[in-house]
Amino acid sequence: MTERLYYADSFLTSFDAVVTDIQEVSRANGLSLWRVELNRSAFYPTSGGQPHDTGRLLATARSGAELSAEIVGVEEDEQDGRVWHHTAKPLVAGTHVRGVVDAARRLDHIQQHSGQHLLSAAFLQICNAPTVSFHLGEASSTIDLAVHSLSDATLQRVEDLANQIIADDRPVTVTVASREQAEAWLAAGELRKLPPRAGNLRIVDIADFDRNACGGTHVRSTGQIGGLYLRGTEKIKQAVRVEFVCGLRAMRAARDDFHTLTDAARELSIGPKEVPEAILRLQADAKHAARQIRTLTGELVRYRAEELIRQTPLDKGLRCVRLQLTPPDAPDAGHAKLLASKLTAQSERTVALLSWTPDAAGTDAATIIFARSGDLAFDCGTVLRETLAANGGRGGGSKDMAQGSVSQERLQAAMDSLAGVCSEIS
Ligand SMILES: [Zn+2]
Repeated sequence: MTERLYYADSFLTSFDAVVTDIQEVSRANGLSLWRVELNRSAFYPTSGGQPHDTGRLLATARSGAELSAEIVGVEEDEQDGRVWHHTAKPLVAGTHVRGVVDAARRLDHIQQHSGQHLLSAAFLQICNAPTVSFHLGEASSTIDLAVHSLSDATLQRVEDLANQIIADDRPVTVTVASREQAEAWLAAGELRKLPPRAGNLRIVDIADFDRNACGGTHVRSTGQIGGLYLRGTEKIKQAVRVEFVCGLRAMRAARDDFHTLTDAARELSIGPKEVPEAILRLQADAKHAARQIRTLTGELVRYRAEELIRQTPLDKGLRCVRLQLTPPDAPDAGHAKLLASKLTAQSERTVALLSWTPDAAGTDAATIIFARSGDLAFDCGTVLRETLAANGGRGGGSKDMAQGSVSQERLQAAMDSLAGVCSEIS
């Protein structure tokens, strides 16, 4: 079993130890990854929702050369209590090493993890919401609470309380208690959580605020958490996930949020506080503009239909308006459909045979709109479906208006067939 130095001092980032075992974890392209066990270690292994430490093991070879092995991962074996340090450099058993833990990463983890103790206790105190899990991520941390919803007012009260306890700079102490003692505290409501493991337990106390059994790394007093900032909530299965950041991360997150807000305000040439109102105004303007565009498009298409009808004379008693449309003239297939309906509504004995492609030289399938005026008798849906099926396409619709699609290579053949059907009908 490895002696875990972080139990006694969360801020210890340099220590001496001896390599007790080494095993090969994997080998790829001739390079091995090793796991090294030490008799004692300040490296925290991934556990309890908190990621492992990183750092180096330094050693002096018999030749006097200095050796530095980077620690890229740390894991614990829950069965036998051994802690394994992952490194690309093999360090044989018996080697004396100096371990150096990445202090900035450790402090960050201490702040997020201690902040989680505080936050879980604050949620329990303010709205009786128990924490079911904790995750410390690269950018932010989350806790999952066994509640259906959380109001903004509740979140604000929790955030205020957590930051008040931080400002109080209350001592955070670690003691060891027997299982019996811990169970008695739990029964009396004096312990927030009790893990299932047997034997003595490590108890973490935030003075007059929270008591919890935990094997992680913690601040010496709440002031070291630095500050706690709630970033948002998300509804997940049977729980609400709360995103938060502490300490230096909270400061960086607040700065990022502020830059996002000021960038948006600058784009709008207004003050940051005016942004929400300006967005509402822009949304209303956009809605109004969209309505106007719809009205004007309808007008434009009606005039265009009138002109096309004027330009297309009756041929053997039938007026067939055949057109190939593309943007920007017709921005979408809906535009072609609108034109077809105006053409056939405004004139008698008229057929609209329109195609639309997003790009004349592109490879996307073409849309075909086939419509007729009410005084003609044939079934557009059936004719289009059969014609397109014969050309590898598909489509259908009602008796007086149908729509389908066909590849651009077969577009002309399909249009010719449909025009042929029209001339037969006339
Ligand atoms: Zn803890």
